[in-house]
Amino acid sequence: MNVLLLGGGGREHAMAWRLSQSPLCKQLFLAPGNAGTSEFGQNLAINPLDFAALKTAVLEHRIGLVICGPEEPLVRGVQDFFRADADLRSVRFLGPSAEAAQLEGSKAYAKVFMEEQGIPTAGYRSFTAATLEEGLEYLNHCQPPIVLKADGLAAGKGVVILNDAGEARTELQSMLEGKFGAASAEVVVEEFLDGIEFSVFVLTDGESYRLLPVAKDYKRIGVGDTGPNTGGMGSVSHPPFVDADLMAKVEQRVIKPTLRGIQQRGLDYKGFIFIGLIAVDNDPYVIEYNCRMGDPETQSVMARLKTDFLQLCLQAADGELAAATIEMDERQAATVVMVSGGYPGPYEQGKVIAGIEAVHDSMVFHAGTSRNAAGELVSSGGRVLAITSYGKDFREALQKSYASAKKIHFEGGNYRGDIGFDL
Ligand code: ATP
Repeated sequence: MNVLLLGGGGREHAMAWRLSQSPLCKQLFLAPGNAGTSEFGQNLAINPLDFAALKTAVLEHRIGLVICGPEEPLVRGVQDFFRADADLRSVRFLGPSAEAAQLEGSKAYAKVFMEEQGIPTAGYRSFTAATLEEGLEYLNHCQPPIVLKADGLAAGKGVVILNDAGEARTELQSMLEGKFGAASAEVVVEEFLDGIEFSVFVLTDGESYRLLPVAKDYKRIGVGDTGPNTGGMGSVSHPPFVDADLMAKVEQRVIKPTLRGIQQRGLDYKGFIFIGLIAVDNDPYVIEYNCRMGDPETQSVMARLKTDFLQLCLQAADGELAAATIEMDERQAATVVMVSGGYPGPYEQGKVIAGIEAVHDSMVFHAGTSRNAAGELVSSGGRVLAITSYGKDFREALQKSYASAKKIHFEGGNYRGDIGFDL
């Protein structure tokens, strides 16, 4: 079967690696992919938000399955576009409908959904410009730290945590006045949860589900989880504190009610559910839902997934996941992300990347890379490479990723040296 994977980050490079290993995969295409994905498939210069161009490519290349990597095409209705078009109806699509993707696309929607199903999450209220006064009054009674969240997608920047009620009032006002554009037309004010975060990945066909390896990611730019948020600086799978007892609670209290909610609301959900959780005294609370896999967790998750990934995706798309088994590598995996100088602020680009060929102990997944006119590999994004390794435990895996990172050079390139510090 010919497969089209939408996206062009490190997540998609890792997925492309596993998809291309499947005997079921005849030819893999990526839209748009990156300089690394061309090792496993053919890159098509198509923006995944250009649905008409996707249709042309799907028909031209006789694609049997489309898998969506990032959230934006889903929230903007790419699955609905495929389902509504008579020419595309026979093409399988893995990813939820726009309505179902609201679990990620609207934090207020996700909160109501969780409330309906009794899923543990932080207590909250949500406000719009029309209820600003009520919101300001509410903040007077909140115990800091106070968490303010823009309702819509804000590229990971829409969450602000404040230690002072006065600052929270100013922030609420500025968010509702459009600080994050339409994304903050509604703001969720949430109770602060003090605990340790982890990410659970569920593949569902809407009825059954299977658990993929659990991971933990590191979002902040600075050592000790300090400084501004990034797209993600590293990941570990499996985080040792997530034991069988905690996972049993996650399944009972979070995953099963989530599937029940999807069914009760009649949501068309075939795809990945990435549940961002926080363990408070060994009890799980949901921080967020995402309607796709995480980056850079996917790099560590794909490393540990031994089951044929394409077969799993097909079973999910066909509603046959009940028959699937998941086999995981006994080894642990860890990923270190190399970023451009200046990231997550304005960052340098076009820097020649050297040394990847000297890496033998790790996989190097590309994120922001491309080729310059001379054919050299250059940086073209904030997060440039993700270096993933195996080990008997995550520490050994991390040591290998760091040793490999030392061999790779590009001007201004850097990485966090303390991934896994809190485990
Ligand atoms: P991303 O897309 O980057 O994952 P997001 O913008 O969708 O993030 P959230 O994941 O909801 O936003 O929150 C971002 C981060 O803020 C979380 O990873 C967590 O560290 C922190 N956070 C969010 N909500 C809470 C909370 N209620 N208590 C404590 N910390 C929180």
